[in-house]
Amino acid sequence: MKLDILELKSKKAVLKIEDTKPYFINSLRRVMLSELPKLAVDDIVIYDNTSALFDEIISHRLSLIPIPTDLSLLTFRTDCVCKGKGCPNCTVRYTLSKEGEGTVFSGDLQPAEKSWAIKEDKIPIVELYGDQRLILEVEAILGRARDHAKWQAVLAPGYKMETTIQFDKKKIDDVKEFLTKLPEDTADIKADKIILRDNKKLAILQYHMEKENVDFITISKDPNNVTFSFETDGSFTTKEAMIESIKILEKKYAEFSKLLKDL
Ligand SMILES: [Zn+2]
Repeated sequence: MKLDILELKSKKAVLKIEDTKPYFINSLRRVMLSELPKLAVDDIVIYDNTSALFDEIISHRLSLIPIPTDLSLLTFRTDCVCKGKGCPNCTVRYTLSKEGEGTVFSGDLQPAEKSWAIKEDKIPIVELYGDQRLILEVEAILGRARDHAKWQAVLAPGYKMETTIQFDKKKIDDVKEFLTKLPEDTADIKADKIILRDNKKLAILQYHMEKENVDFITISKDPNNVTFSFETDGSFTTKEAMIESIKILEKKYAEFSKLLKDL
């Protein structure tokens, strides 16, 4: 297997993975989507809310705020020594108190400990007018997206197989004429291949091939070479999300292997 980084930002990654198999990439993708735990607000006590929004709408917005998650410091509440009562090992607490003209932002949530400060601090929660106020307390706990979408840290993970577009050399004139019918900057001819200006143009090419009944161009996909891309909501960096997801996969394989040995 070979890994090349095409783009690696804190919230977006594009990786080129060669000599792999779609089932491997897909299992990693599924783990990222539904198994990777993250913090999300799960319990809210509203002491005062005289804003224009109902308590339920504010609660909904609060539960979607990405909370920086350090999995090495946290455990699931159900597995915690506190037996579900809530303690610093399984629960992160925030308070919010704001009064008077202005927008309440995610960054107004004050953590009990500084290290849990919300990094995505410019997400608007509600606009306050006059002497309106919002005073509340929240508890965030670990959860998985398979139980609720608010615990989904990785967004839009997907992979595309490497595509080769070849044509019948004897029909080079037809190919050239066909390419002139495509929107500008879609594709070029290079040796015996058609090269797309960018991978997203494949759908345009396919659409026009179907429309014009083109039989002199063939598109082939290589399932062993893929481009894998995903984003995070900010609870993790892309690198953290990838490493934590791989740890979960490893654990699953180890469990399964143990079960087989015990047979
Ligand atoms: Zn606990």
